[in-house]
Amino acid sequence: MGFDRRIFNFSAGPATIPTEVLEKAQSELLNFQSAGMSVMEMSHRSKEFDGVLEKAESTLRELTGVGDEHAVLFLQGGAQHQFAMAPLNFVEKGRPTDLVQTGYWTQKAAKEIELLGELKVVASSEDKNFSYLPPITPDRLSENASYLHYCSNNTIFGTQYREFVRQAGVPLVCDMSSDFLSRQLNFSDFDLIFAGAQKNVGPSGIAVVIIRKEFAERGRKDIPSFFQYREHIKGGSRLNTPNTWGIYLCGLVLDWLKAQGGLAKMESLNQEKAGWLYDKIDSSDFWSCPVRKEDRSLMNVVYRIKDGDEALEKKFIAEASAAGLSGLKGHRHVGGLRASIYNAHPAEGVKALVQFMDAFEKANG
Ligand SMILES: *Cc1c(COP(=O)(O)O)cnc(C)c1O
Repeated sequence: MGFDRRIFNFSAGPATIPTEVLEKAQSELLNFQSAGMSVMEMSHRSKEFDGVLEKAESTLRELTGVGDEHAVLFLQGGAQHQFAMAPLNFVEKGRPTDLVQTGYWTQKAAKEIELLGELKVVASSEDKNFSYLPPITPDRLSENASYLHYCSNNTIFGTQYREFVRQAGVPLVCDMSSDFLSRQLNFSDFDLIFAGAQKNVGPSGIAVVIIRKEFAERGRKDIPSFFQYREHIKGGSRLNTPNTWGIYLCGLVLDWLKAQGGLAKMESLNQEKAGWLYDKIDSSDFWSCPVRKEDRSLMNVVYRIKDGDEALEKKFIAEASAAGLSGLKGHRHVGGLRASIYNAHPAEGVKALVQFMDAFEKANG
């Protein structure tokens, strides 16, 4: 292969970062804010980096509307580090920890919870390979749970929750890795939100964390301090030397999001983008989507050709890739095709994919 231009990247993560953001980073790479060095080379306690971190936090607060009751953190280790950190802090012996089982990422989170306490799967869609969202009613939820764990968007199976049923008094924890900042949501309702940055916020290796301060305070104190949320809050995301370059890039993406018109604008754009793709998939029997219609994700569109013609799917992936549409192979747990169309994936990319599907269908239908 080899391209002399930026292609349309449908990868599930690391994923597309806005070109404007990369250009800005490029222009500031050698000499950041006239400091005579790159942001990667300066102290994480320098006044320049103070500015980077403060701005990233304030823009994130502005976009999400979370106030002083919550802390905003940029931590290392990504989402799976949070799968460990949340139970370490909050799973209590003698109480269940509730979890909604929607596949793969919640299975991973569940495994960590089980190491430390009693897991209670309050709903699951495993019976149909996680192709729908299991309904949740308050009577299924424990009254005394350590917390309730959700994954808002199931990256691999292509489902996305639109509302979060909870039990009064039980903390609400949500893995928003693959749809964070893609829509308007009452972020303050959650006690802990975390998101691996590499889908919607920036580069990999960082988790953006929003945690209710009072909840963080209730976490265990008899675990190593580096795993305690309260210590990271006290340290202002700088308990250790953080990934300064990554935080800087997250800040640029957040600025970009704001300049695009914030989450309301993102939400309508994302509905539009996903709509084009699902309309195409639903338009003929050549394509199919295994996910129940009302549960479909706006971020990860999972689909098949002729209900799973693997040879034809392989051909599609190869030809699409040669045409500059990359990353369309489905996850190995589902097979088929997947188009990940996060915030930064341009509308033109989705249009190009729909056009390509049209031509492919005509040639192979
Ligand atoms: C990608 C992803 C993860 C894993 O993120 P890491 O940063 O690699 O740990 C967890 N949960 C969801 C929903 C994801 O999409």
